[in-house]
Amino acid sequence: MAGCSHLDAVELLELPDPVAGCEECLATGMSWVHLRMCQSCGHIGCCDNSPGRHATAHHADSRHPIIRSAEPGEDWSFCYEDELMFRLRPS
Ligand SMILES: [Zn+2]
Ligand SMILES: [Zn+2]
Ligand SMILES: [Zn+2]
Repeated sequence: MAGCSHLDAVELLELPDPVAGCEECLATGMSWVHLRMCQSCGHIGCCDNSPGRHATAHHADSRHPIIRSAEPGEDWSFCYEDELMFRLRPS
């Protein structure tokens, strides 16, 4: 199985505390369903089930490859380039 080749783009493992919400949704008064954090720059955006899809929009703008879930109790990451889900934290 091929792995993600973008792990050197990961700068951040931990979520901010607290997670305020999707930056673009907060700025424009939209609502979101789930939150994702860019693991290169820490941008918080909303998932593809949200109207804004700002996490994906951030990837399209920045080409930052890897996000993680910012939902409580979830620690999975996802690489847009490889379309792979994985966990970065050895448990
Ligand atoms: Zn990758
Ligand atoms: Zn959003
Ligand atoms: Zn980013």
